[in-house]
Amino acid sequence: MSTDNPFRHLPAVDEVLRDARLAAIANSISHPQLVQWVRAGVDACRAAMQSSIDMDALAATSFVVDEVFKMHRAELGRTQQPVINATGVLLHTNLGRAPLAKIAIQRMTDASGYANVEMNLFTGKRNKRGERTCSLISQLTGSEDAAIVNNCAAATMLVLQAMAKGREVIISRGQLVEIGGGYRLPEVFAASGSIMKEVGTTNRTYLRDYEQAINENTAAIIQVHRSNFFLGGFVTEPNLDELVALGKQRGLPVIDDIGSGCISDLRDLGLQEPIVPDSVKSGADVTLFSGDKLFGGPQAGIIVGRSNWIESLRKNPMMRALRVDKVTLAAIEATAEIHLSGKAKVELPLLQMLYKTQNQIRERCDYVKARLTLPEEVVVDTISCVSEMGGGSIPGSEIPSAAIHVSGIDAQMLAEQLRLGSPAVLGIIRDDSVLLDLRTVADVQTELFAECLAAAIKRTIEASV
Ligand SMILES: *Cc1c(COP(=O)(O)O)cnc(C)c1O
Repeated sequence: MSTDNPFRHLPAVDEVLRDARLAAIANSISHPQLVQWVRAGVDACRAAMQSSIDMDALAATSFVVDEVFKMHRAELGRTQQPVINATGVLLHTNLGRAPLAKIAIQRMTDASGYANVEMNLFTGKRNKRGERTCSLISQLTGSEDAAIVNNCAAATMLVLQAMAKGREVIISRGQLVEIGGGYRLPEVFAASGSIMKEVGTTNRTYLRDYEQAINENTAAIIQVHRSNFFLGGFVTEPNLDELVALGKQRGLPVIDDIGSGCISDLRDLGLQEPIVPDSVKSGADVTLFSGDKLFGGPQAGIIVGRSNWIESLRKNPMMRALRVDKVTLAAIEATAEIHLSGKAKVELPLLQMLYKTQNQIRERCDYVKARLTLPEEVVVDTISCVSEMGGGSIPGSEIPSAAIHVSGIDAQMLAEQLRLGSPAVLGIIRDDSVLLDLRTVADVQTELFAECLAAAIKRTIEASV
C-alpha cells in the first residue's frame, strides 16, 4: 500500500473540463477563468491527497468539481449587484452609501451616451464642465461658486495642496480624525505637501491657541468635523464664527471640512449635524462635503466657497486628475434640483427613510410577517430597534425603528441564504437571531423583500434537514 503513488487518482485538468456538471456554469464565465479554477481545484485535490485523504478517481473528480462550484459562488458573491439593505444603517459604506433618487438614476442613464457636459446647447459654445451643476450647488448652499471632485477625501487633498502647499495649516488636536478606509488626516496633510500645525489638546483648544500658532508661513486655518466620533465632558473649542473672525483679522482663509454634508436642518429628528449653508453663511472661505452622505447623491466631493478660491482650485493641475464623470455630474445636478425644490423629504430616498416613524416601520414589519407561511419551529416577531446614520455621519445617532426578528432557525445559515438570494438581502445577526430593520428597505421593495425572506427561510430549512 505505502508504495502506491498517493496521487494516482488525481484527475487531469482536461478530464475535469469535460465533466458534464461544469456545463451549468461554463456559459456564464470565460473559458480561461474556468481552466484557472479547475487547476486550482486540482491543486486543492492534490493537497487533500497529500494529507492522506483517500479518494478513488470518481471521488477525486467530484472533489475538483465541488471546488470549482465554490469558486464560482465566491465570484458571484463579489459581482456587483443590487442589495436590499435591512441593516438599518442608512449610509452603509459597504453598500455604497446613499441610494439615489429615481430622477437622479434616470439622469445618469440619460448622460451615459453623449451629453453636453462641457457645452451650452443654446449658444453652441463650450462652457465650464458641469457648469449648471455647480451653479445649482451654489444656489443651494448660498456660496459664490462650487467645484466637484471624486470624493471629500479628494476635496481635502486638493484644497490643502492648492491653498497651502509647503506652508502651515492650523488644526485643533481634537480634530485629527481617521474617517476609515485608510483616511487619516495627518496622512492627507502629508500627501498634499502642506504642513499640519497642531494646536490645543485632544479635549480643549482655545482661540488663543490658533492665534499663537500664526506665523509668516501660515497658509490657512482648517476645521474638521468629527463625523464618526464625539467628544464629551471637559471639552471646548472655538466655533466657526470665531475662527472666521480670526482668519479675517489675520488675512488667512478658513477651510471647513464638514464631511457629512447636511443641507437642511435635521433637528426635528433630534439629529444635529453641521449644515452646509450655515458654514457658508459663517464666512468659511471653502466648505467641503461628500456627495453620498446626507446630501443623498452619488460619490463626490463638493467644494463651495468664495469664487477666488474656487477659481484657483479649478485651475490647479490636480483638479484634472480628480474631476468627476458626466454621469456623476448628472446625478448631482438632479439631486441638487430636488433639494432646491423643497421636496427632498419626499423625493430623496435617504431622507424618506430617515423621516419614517417607528410606527410606520412597525406596520410594515407586521405586514411582511403576515405574508409569510412559516414552518412551526421558526418564530417571526416585530421588535423595536435603533437604526443608525452610519457612513461617518451623526456619530452615536440612535434613530428609533422596528425590525423583523427571526428565531428558531440557524441565524448564520439564514443570513447566508438571504445574502445569496436574488436580490441579495443584508440583515444583522444578534443573539442567534436575524434582525431585519425595515427603515432602510424602500416601500416599493416591501413585496420583493417578503418574497426573498420567505425563500431564504425555506432554503435554510431544506438545507438543514
Ligand atoms: C466622510 C468624511 C470625509 C471623507 O469623505 P469621502 O467622500 O468618503 O471621501 C472627509 N472628511 C470628513 C469630515 C468626513 O466626514
